[in-house]
Amino acid sequence: MPTVYVETYGCQMNVADTDLVLGLLERAGYARTTDPACADVILINTCAVRERAVERVRGRASSLARYKANGRRVVLGITGCMAEHLRAELRQQAPYVDLVVGPDSYRRLPENIERALRGEAVQDTELDAHETYAGLDAARAGSGGVTRHVAIQRGCDRFCAFCVVPFTRGRERATVPAEVVRQVRALAVNGCREVQLLGQTVSSYRASEDGREVGFAELLRRVAAVEGIDRIRFLSPYPLGFTAEVIAAMAELPKVCKQVHLPLQSAADAVLARMRRGYTLAEYRALVENLRRAMPAIAITTDFLVGFCGESEAEFAETLTALAEIRFDNAFMFAYSERQGTLAARQLSDDVPAATKQRRLARVIDEQRKITAEIYATQVGRHERVLCESPSRRSPAELLGRTDAFRPVIMAAGPGVTVGRLVDVVIERSGPGTLYGRALAPETRS
Ligand code: SF4
Repeated sequence: MPTVYVETYGCQMNVADTDLVLGLLERAGYARTTDPACADVILINTCAVRERAVERVRGRASSLARYKANGRRVVLGITGCMAEHLRAELRQQAPYVDLVVGPDSYRRLPENIERALRGEAVQDTELDAHETYAGLDAARAGSGGVTRHVAIQRGCDRFCAFCVVPFTRGRERATVPAEVVRQVRALAVNGCREVQLLGQTVSSYRASEDGREVGFAELLRRVAAVEGIDRIRFLSPYPLGFTAEVIAAMAELPKVCKQVHLPLQSAADAVLARMRRGYTLAEYRALVENLRRAMPAIAITTDFLVGFCGESEAEFAETLTALAEIRFDNAFMFAYSERQGTLAARQLSDDVPAATKQRRLARVIDEQRKITAEIYATQVGRHERVLCESPSRRSPAELLGRTDAFRPVIMAAGPGVTVGRLVDVVIERSGPGTLYGRALAPETRS
């Protein structure tokens, strides 16, 4: 049986795409291997959002190319956003790459691998405005185990000035509700207990069904009705289009976790306008207040992008002020890097010096770390339901789980405290970004 090895970079959508690709290749007769030295097909599923990620993949591709030199026919492929973004130059820069496949071309992967095995240089990077991969199932033993992903939306129509996603993943399209529910049921049958609904702007999910429109709130209700699924998360909503109806559904449905990742990017209105984000800080704050009013215990995390074109010290200071006032549970924080083809690259000047970007990034990380540590310290003594996700990296005798609010908890494994169980835990101490707990009541479900 031929074998395939896949490395995944970037966001949760890429993790979901890797599971989709592995599912497709499983059905085409491939077995997965975790050792690239034994693989007949090596795929690197890539991200193009930041220059650093692209550089890392370039280095990794050249390193994996050594497995082609041992006399066996090995196909080396680049899939995903970087394949789409750099399609014109990728094979010139890396002639050892046999296969360049964009995010809308995975259905044809088995035949494209066959072509590459016959010695053809294959490039399949056409975007397809209708492709949602309906009818295809993720690999049974995909990433995540008890928590799995379902893409409910692909592509993005927002065209934020800094972002390459609309160019690498094409225009927004939604998976129809019946197909989302079918995929969630299939995962539940295979032991998944938590599903993460993925898209670039999930809160604006809209699909037509029997002549009527189904929005995100209704989709949440339908997914919550799937037996065997205990928890639902979604990633990422956009601050615009996050309606009162969605907030009400989140508050009302016990299976929907009281946690939301809500990218802010910058708190200075002038920067938000240059980024073409379409909202002001006041509008963002009003949404945060509405979420906290409806769900007082909700944990809100965010993204910050510092050093965007023209960002002044005063504008950066506005971000620090908002970060201190809103008190996010945690944040992903990055320094801006220009991406070819975006509006910012075409019309704005990447004029914040690299050293200033790094200084601002270090400052924002430092401030957020303090806030996260303070919030985590307030959790000590609380009782939480924790889904045990995997063995901890520190010790096989410990498990890593997550609270409803997505806070990581380390606890000792034991009878009934095993991967896949929902366990009542008392939080005994906190670290800067981790909680440590003790299981009180192991779950009795078999
Ligand atoms: S919403 Fe903006 S940042 Fe997010 S994927 Fe779309 S264009 Fe990129």
